[in-house]
Amino acid sequence: MKQDYYEILGVSKNATSGEIKKAYRKKAVQNHPDKNPGNKESEERFKQAAEAYEILSTPDKKARYDQYGHAAFENGGAGGGFGGMNMDDIFSQFGDIFGGHFSGGGFGGGGRQVRVKGSNLRIRVKLELKDILNGVTKKVKVKRLVKADGVTYKTCSSCNGQGSVIRISNTILGRMQTSATCPTCQGSGKLVDHRPKGANAHGLIQKEETVEIEIPPGVTDGVQLKVTGKGNEAPGNGISGDIHVVIQEIPHEYLKREGNNLHHDLYISFSEAALGSDKEIDTLTGKVRIKIEEGTQSGKILRLRGKGLESLERYGKGDLLIHLNVWTPKRLSKEQKEFFEKAKNDDNFIPNPSHSEKSFFEKVKDMFS
Ligand SMILES: [Zn+2]
Repeated sequence: MKQDYYEILGVSKNATSGEIKKAYRKKAVQNHPDKNPGNKESEERFKQAAEAYEILSTPDKKARYDQYGHAAFENGGAGGGFGGMNMDDIFSQFGDIFGGHFSGGGFGGGGRQVRVKGSNLRIRVKLELKDILNGVTKKVKVKRLVKADGVTYKTCSSCNGQGSVIRISNTILGRMQTSATCPTCQGSGKLVDHRPKGANAHGLIQKEETVEIEIPPGVTDGVQLKVTGKGNEAPGNGISGDIHVVIQEIPHEYLKREGNNLHHDLYISFSEAALGSDKEIDTLTGKVRIKIEEGTQSGKILRLRGKGLESLERYGKGDLLIHLNVWTPKRLSKEQKEFFEKAKNDDNFIPNPSHSEKSFFEKVKDMFS
């Protein structure tokens, strides 16, 4: 059975907010873990008091507690859950009660050493479709901060190389410890001892370097790759940042990309469509011969399986889709005009699509199936 919040603080139900605050201070001081090291009971009372104060000092929570009791904060209760408080919550509450800011540093948190990381660089790499097809190693010049030649570091005297400092302040609760990042070395624990000419305050200098970037096959425009440890170096014994590589795809002269598939708009002559022909076309992997059947209709799509791009997730290759467009001559000689005039009423020249000739919409449907 959970103890009544008013009982925990030792106040009556009619207590004013001033009385509640005063009662909580008293309980917090009595049961503070720094004053009762290793005493689990007082730590428990300390937490209970904090929880009671949290509820009774917040008007709407107090109103719900007065009406429903603990049920108001149980799961599914009238007021939603109240998850209890951890030490960080309790100490942040102390700011309101005692003034100033407290952290959990007093509970054995101690100094925390931060391994400072250098900042990241961001670069853009432009790729042709054929590089995307096969993957490529790109050599890129980057300007990165590196430790200057001859720079030496010494241990920061403000934090003795710990990277953090403990502040001790005397409060109503007694001695309180707070831990903060060392302002002298910004957490690295090191300071520049010898600073060569041209180096910045951290002993770093900008240098142009060539970095090799491995790009896997199948990347798409806007994809980001990370090259670990090739960003700016950090002072002292810190670790280098990364390079974020943003891929930019250079549009191909005549191939359009759609996922892993490639589309090629191919124009064939009226004669090639009527008579049929063998045609050589360029693909990303070299020349390929395609057969155009006798009597080919404009809009026919030839699918070359596996001639598209590899997927980045390696689940296979896309296709190359060749869209055949019959080129209608724009100007005709006298003889050609006579020929077409004669042909106009010839049965063979009158459109007569059979059911086996798929419509444009059916073809589109096929492409995605
Ligand atoms: Zn320091």
